[in-house]
Amino acid sequence: PPFAIGLTGGIGSGKSTVADMFAARGATIVDTDVIAHAMTAPHGPAMADIVRAFGPGFADASGAMDRARMRALVFADAGAKARLEAILHPRIRDAALAAGAAASGSYVIYAVPLLIESGTWRARVTRVLAVDCAEEVQIARVMARNNLPEAQVRAIMATQVSRAQRLAAADDVIVNNAGIAELTAQVERLHADYLHMCRKFAG
Ligand code: ATP
Repeated sequence: PPFAIGLTGGIGSGKSTVADMFAARGATIVDTDVIAHAMTAPHGPAMADIVRAFGPGFADASGAMDRARMRALVFADAGAKARLEAILHPRIRDAALAAGAAASGSYVIYAVPLLIESGTWRARVTRVLAVDCAEEVQIARVMARNNLPEAQVRAIMATQVSRAQRLAAADDVIVNNAGIAELTAQVERLHADYLHMCRKFAG
């Protein structure tokens, strides 16, 4: 389907929860986190380039990326981070767009955590949907889900674009500060809007 939504939001804002709700209503979800993981799984499509760029020590015995070693490297070395992203991001984007083009749902939602940061995604989606969440709520949910201390959650959030930047780039916003019922109601409203828009979009 040509009508495509880019779904984004900060860590723990509720992207996956929202994506599941749209999927239950007939949208096709293409999750770039899932594709990213497959790229660096045992002998995944990005592994040959990663070994060529970083050395065989960055693959483990199964042929998957040694995630702990790579995490330590890119944390310490911005150049290495850029090289890894140059290998992964175009492949992830192309694989995601191919999956979306083959989708059978009424429309496609690309779940892209770094959509605002990446730039090249914006031109490839019809609308950007941001899940917004108050920082205190976001921190509490990630602490509970991942069993992480508050400081570590804040450190991850500090590497992401600000809430204000994300909201400024969004066409549609879901506010996820309350419960599941409030979230469901917003998804239902937007899904109805999107179905309407894709009918107009199709002609
Ligand atoms: P990540 O960026 O880490 O992939 P995400 O944006 O996909 O996260 P979710 O995994 O959907 O976020 O949500 C984060 C956590 O908060 C999960 O444990 C989820 O079950 C919980 N959660 C999300 N929305 C709500 C809500 N409205 N009420 C209660 N819990 C929620």
